[in-house]
Amino acid sequence: MNKIVAEGLKRMVSPAEVARFVTEQKQKGKTVGFVPTMGALHEGHLSLFKRASESSDCVIASVFVNPTQFGDKDDYINYPKNIDRDAALAERAGVDVLFIPEESAIYPNGSDMTVQVHTKTDVLCGKSRPGHFDGVATVLTKLFNIVKPDTVYFGMKDAQQVAIVSSLIRTFHIPVKLVACPIVRESDGLAKSSRNVRLSANERKEAPEIYKGLQAGLRAAELGERNFDRLISTVKAYYAKHLILGKIDYVDVLNYPELKRSGASLDRHFIIACAVRYQSARLIDNITADTEKLLSSREAD
Ligand code: AMP
Repeated sequence: MNKIVAEGLKRMVSPAEVARFVTEQKQKGKTVGFVPTMGALHEGHLSLFKRASESSDCVIASVFVNPTQFGDKDDYINYPKNIDRDAALAERAGVDVLFIPEESAIYPNGSDMTVQVHTKTDVLCGKSRPGHFDGVATVLTKLFNIVKPDTVYFGMKDAQQVAIVSSLIRTFHIPVKLVACPIVRESDGLAKSSRNVRLSANERKEAPEIYKGLQAGLRAAELGERNFDRLISTVKAYYAKHLILGKIDYVDVLNYPELKRSGASLDRHFIIACAVRYQSARLIDNITADTEKLLSSREAD
């Protein structure tokens, strides 16, 4: 690979400047990897940057808290921000350009045109956050058109987003390859999230139970359970015992990446997913798995 000479992280605010930079890199024969984020970076984001810098010559990350994907105004206003810290972390993780656009640059005419997502949105976060994936698809279409990356990197933490962005890329013939990266967790199993800082001490203590509940569902599948409703009940029964402060927004089991059921039983690839609300943070988590690999993975334990 042909890494660009380390010149330190460049911060760019203007879409035109990013587009110019990418054109120059491509003229030099370099590949461009792109990682869209909303900032408040943590190890989850950094894993995407590292993955991108291993497989692309040049890595662009964006930090943009996209207003159109927030239904809840308070969540948008209170979204944690620290751009200097983000820039230092991004630089250490191999990012070459941090794109930090103003809202007016991304939405020059407000929301006069948007992308509407009609599939895979009636379940999971799409169901509890109406319009969220329209906002995500709209902003990503804009960012993909500005950056024109060869490859984009997304985390499986947002598995529904991965499924929808794959469809977006196919539907609009966007010439980019999507790489999905594994969920990074705290040592106690809690999925890393920018929203974890909003948990109280007691909520933080309880939150690892979210992943343990999903694992209870996975264990049932490993023991041969294939029925959607019974798998969901297993996870819900775990939460009924172990979540006191957190309120379940949803628990679901679906075929993945289709995000639907086919009959009463799982197909080969599936997702066990949930969202849990605490006082000031709604947390999501999931496990994706392949029924044909479940037994062999148990034998390897
Ligand atoms: P966000 O800043 O929340 O929009 O996330 C930007 C990207 O980082 C998305 O592709 C997320 O799925 C990914 N991401 C967030 N948290 C994690 C995590 N714990 N592990 C892996 N990827 C993550």
